[in-house]
Formats: sequence, structure tokens, C-alpha cells
Amino acid sequence: MTNNIVVLGAGVSGLTTAYLLSQDPANKITVLAKHMPGDYDIEYASPWAGADYMPMGKEGSAHQAWEQATWPALKELAEKHPEAGLHFRDSWIYNRTKDQKSLAGQFFSELVQPNPWYKDVVPDFKSVPADQLSPSIHNAQSFTSVCINVAVYLPWLVGQCVKNGAVFKRAVLKHIADAALAHHTGQKADVVVNCTGLSSKSLGGVLDDKLYPARGQIVVVRNDPGPMVSVSGTDDGDDEVLYIMTRAAGGGTILGGSYQKHNWDSLPDPNLANRIMKRAIAFSPQLVGKGQGIEGLDIIRHSVGLRPLRDGGPRIEKDKVNGVSVVHNYGHGGFGYQASYGCAESTVSLVKEVLENKSRAKL
Ligand code: FAD
Repeated sequence: MTNNIVVLGAGVSGLTTAYLLSQDPANKITVLAKHMPGDYDIEYASPWAGADYMPMGKEGSAHQAWEQATWPALKELAEKHPEAGLHFRDSWIYNRTKDQKSLAGQFFSELVQPNPWYKDVVPDFKSVPADQLSPSIHNAQSFTSVCINVAVYLPWLVGQCVKNGAVFKRAVLKHIADAALAHHTGQKADVVVNCTGLSSKSLGGVLDDKLYPARGQIVVVRNDPGPMVSVSGTDDGDDEVLYIMTRAAGGGTILGGSYQKHNWDSLPDPNLANRIMKRAIAFSPQLVGKGQGIEGLDIIRHSVGLRPLRDGGPRIEKDKVNGVSVVHNYGHGGFGYQASYGCAESTVSLVKEVLENKSRAKL
């Protein structure tokens, strides 16, 4: 018994789902995508991410469960598979009193909780004693997180899938149902997994108008300040954020950023770039030499990516489009990596349900 499966999309969602599915030799998988690892495009969110593990799901939500389920997988990769491009990193979280109601404050609201659910998930969680905090900081904490060099990790995922027999093909589809006709065997796929991120807004047969972008502008530099930092907000605008993370294996340091909802602009804004760099140095002066400002940064590039946000959260569910069985896995906003294994596991369970129903129907 073999199962013909097409995974549409080769971002972190599609690749992680294909990787888990490919571990069952009964699954014959085609990964079909417009963009593949190595490409940089505004329609392709995954290459622009930092990416780190900074939990954001509300306690008790599916989002929390997906993030919680993902930590052990990322930890194991950092411990046992350094070639995947992940490393452990000390992380500091600062919650400013003034950000409680701002947009940025809402983006980070779960992360910066003084007593967050993830304290029992990540190693070394510690709260900074109140008497050691500066007056503007409501609470602060540290823990060990990971930072993923996505330029190494995405190709690593491709390699794992290929090793397990998956076939990769380029294609641009107008309609989700067309994916069923693109399996590498020439046979019709039993199920299509839709991992097209923000493009599910315009993909025929999906047309999900709950999707919208949250624009993230970053500066990638060669400087290495040490620990990772995330702050609940900035003084430069409601939708500007401050985070710093150094990628594994020479991937550079990401200075962020912004969280600009409904903004599709793909070009870096030079004024925003200035503010990002100044904020990062003000918070982590060790980024540059003593007394230096932004001239002390060794810039690799300025970049913009669009986080695929969805009202109501990611869509992970079964669907039937023009007679084709589809399982969706898209709409992961700013947490596509840190929820990747949890979301892919839920998706794989739904794929199994579809396949079981099909084989029952054949009996
Ligand atoms: P995408 O990466 O966008 O992939 C979509 C895929 O579908 C592509 O292969 C595309 O070519 C394909 N596709 C789409 N339409 C079609 C079509 N019609 N035909 C064929 N193929 C199609 N997340 C974290 O967990 N941690 C972080 O630290 C983090 N930092 C971030 C920082 C920034 C600046 C940004 C922008 C994002 C960040 N994210 C982070 C979020 C994360 O990057 C996204 O949630 C994630 O990349 C979404 O992945 P995806 O696979 O769902 O979509």
C-alpha cells in the first residue's frame, strides 16, 4: 500500500511536514513549490526569519500546544545534529511598563509574562529580581533558547526529505486542486497538503481573506553581541520592535525589527533601518566597539519579510476542493519555526485520517 502525497510549498511549514511524512516509507511525496531554499523573495517568508524560539502562544491555546511540542525537536537538533544549523543561545527578555497596550507589546505579550507557561519547557529559566531592574522595566527574565541559521536549516530539511525518497519539483499553481495532478509518479495524489503561507490569500480554491502580512524589516550584521535580546516595545512607534539574535554557524546577527500589519512593502525603509541599528546599539552596546555608533556595525544586508498572519490563528484542517482531499497548514505569523514541529505533527495526523478514510472506502 502506498500513499501519493503532494506537499505544496517549501517554506519551513511545507518542509517540516514533508520531513515527518517522509519518515513513513509508505508515503510517496512530491514537494511542489514556486520558491525553494536558496531563493529570496517577498512571497517566501521562511528565508527572512531570524529564527529563534520565543514562545508567543496564549496559555491553553492550540498555539501554545504547537510551540510546546516543537521545543524538544529543536533542542534535539541543536544537541545532536549541529549540521542542521541550530545552536543554543542565552536569551534575555525585557518587559517595559509602558508597552502593556502597544501593538508591539501585544505581539510579545505572552513572551514577556513574568510567570510564563514556557518556564517549564525551556532550560535555565530565571526571573531577574525586582530590585535589580531599572525603573522603566516591569519584569525581565532569561533562559536558554535556540537560534536557527535558516540558510543552513532549510536546505538541511530538503536533504532529509530527499534522503527519505521525496521528490522536489518547481511549479506555480493557480488552483490548489491542480496540485493533485502534479505527483511525480504521474498518478493522482491521494492528498494535497497546502503549505503556501500568505499566498493562500490568492490561491484558487483557498482564497483565505483572513490572511494578511505583518511586515518585518531587519538588518543582518557580522557583529556578535553575545546573548539574544527581545524587548516588549520601542519609543519609535507602535509597530516597531527590538530583538537581537545571532545565528548558528556563521549566519550573522539579526537586528530587528518591525511588526507592521497590512504593510506589503518589500523594500527596506532606510529610516527604519537607522532606528533599528540605533536601538540595538543602545540596548546592547557590546555590539560595536567602545564609543561607536552605527558606523561600528558591519552590515551584510537590509531585508524585509512578510509574516503570514491569520485572524483566528493558523489553519490546520481538512478540506475537500473540487473532489481533491486537502489538508491545510498555513498562517503561522511570526512563529512558523518555533511552532513548526507541533503544527506539522497535527497536519500529519489529519493526513493519516484522510488516507485511512480512503482505504476504508476502497474495501
Ligand atoms: P513560506 O515560507 O512563505 O513558504 C510558502 C511556500 O509556498 C513557498 O515555497 C512558496 O513558493 C510556495 N507557494 C506559495 N504559493 C504558491 C503557488 N501558487 N504555487 C506554488 N508554490 C507556492 N518565526 C519563528 O518561529 N521564529 C522567528 O524568530 C521568526 N522571525 C521572523 C522574522 C521575520 C523578519 C519574518 C518575516 C518572519 C519571522 N518568523 C519567525 C515567521 C516565519 O518566518 C514564518 O511563520 C514562516 O516562515 C512561514 O513559513 P511557511 O512555510 O508557512 O510559508
